[in-house]
Amino acid sequence: MTDSKKYGFTTTILHGDRQNPIEHGSLHKPIHTSVAFGYKDARELAMVFQGKQPGYRYGRQGNPTVSALEDKINKMEDGYATLCFATGMAAIAAVVQALLRDGDHVVSSAFLFGNTNSLWQTVSMQGVGVSLVDATDVANVEAALTAATRIVFVETIANPRTQVADLARIGQLCRDRGILYIVDNTMTSPYLFQPKAVGASLVVNALTKSIGGHGNALGGSLTDTGLYDWTRFPNIFDTYKRFAPVQWGTAQIRAKALRDFGASLGPEAAHHLAVGSETMALRLERECANALALARMLEADDRVAAVHYPGLTSHPQHAIATDLFDAYGGLFSFELKDGIDCFDYLNRLKLGVPASNLGDTRTLVIPVAHTIFYEMGPERRAGMGIAESLIRVSVGIEDTADLLKDFSQALDS
Ligand SMILES: *Cc1c(COP(=O)(O)O)cnc(C)c1O
Repeated sequence: MTDSKKYGFTTTILHGDRQNPIEHGSLHKPIHTSVAFGYKDARELAMVFQGKQPGYRYGRQGNPTVSALEDKINKMEDGYATLCFATGMAAIAAVVQALLRDGDHVVSSAFLFGNTNSLWQTVSMQGVGVSLVDATDVANVEAALTAATRIVFVETIANPRTQVADLARIGQLCRDRGILYIVDNTMTSPYLFQPKAVGASLVVNALTKSIGGHGNALGGSLTDTGLYDWTRFPNIFDTYKRFAPVQWGTAQIRAKALRDFGASLGPEAAHHLAVGSETMALRLERECANALALARMLEADDRVAAVHYPGLTSHPQHAIATDLFDAYGGLFSFELKDGIDCFDYLNRLKLGVPASNLGDTRTLVIPVAHTIFYEMGPERRAGMGIAESLIRVSVGIEDTADLLKDFSQALDS
């Protein structure tokens, strides 16, 4: 296959590897465990180090199994280049490590994955200003911009309250101002949405979630969509300016984050993630259908106080989500009415497993305020719309009727 664009999503993932010859005709890219890569001619090694010839140097900066996964994700996101990291958080941290300097400013959505929220807290103690805003309206993002703003960061659908960012208008704003626009696509995944369509500069994916899909390997990625004009970014070191401007960002991130901070993805994990990604479309279709069915059932039950899912017409950003995404994702959250204890409810579930992950094949449930958002305290939780009784559900691929029965019987105490 030479032109991946002429094939559909799953065909491209399955057959994309064979665009480059694979050792011995293996259908899976082999797991290369070697840390070092030998060259017959010492001059060749020097050329690779100087970036004048493609090749591998040392496992921390690149590995053939990891490169094969990077190619797959790059195709999914229709990117210019993709880099993988040990975890999704490592991918987000790489942006901070490689691209921000003392005195810079970040505008981020206030509706965030808990650990990203915590990362911004850390960063704000290290000389970078961070403004957290309600990014469901571009006006709030625009009002927070300063002359020092280098990055605007949003999630497509926020985890866990499912607010949808004003993605297209924020993209236009960033393009007008020359600001780097970073979109965390984990909750939608490239199967439901390509952030490139709204002008994203860099796309984050926690591969741990929908792309790997089985909760058996951690990983993260950053995709440069090729849309951003890096000549407008003031923090590029001169040494990376010897490349074409479209390469400046990934060259600096590979060196300054991957090489210097070292959160590299291992080849075994890359293999698990690549195999998992083959069934991504099949899994997501079932997960999205299950999530919509469960969300509708719970919303119609008078023992439930609120259900948050962009697929419901009652969701404040239902129209934007319908406009931008192919489906509404596999995650929703809900609140029980006073008098029903969320722990008791979770303990009555037979299929929903109390566990902290999402995008798994199994349905996972978690009492948000008491676990993943416990550390941030009641005030910040309230600011993010997190009720104390909020339950997050990451919907799996179980048979729909079984899930509906389980979540319904647990309401009958
Ligand atoms: C899980 C998650 C991350 C972090 O990914 P890890 O692989 O767990 O580090 C980042 N963003 C979002 C939206 C996530 O759900």
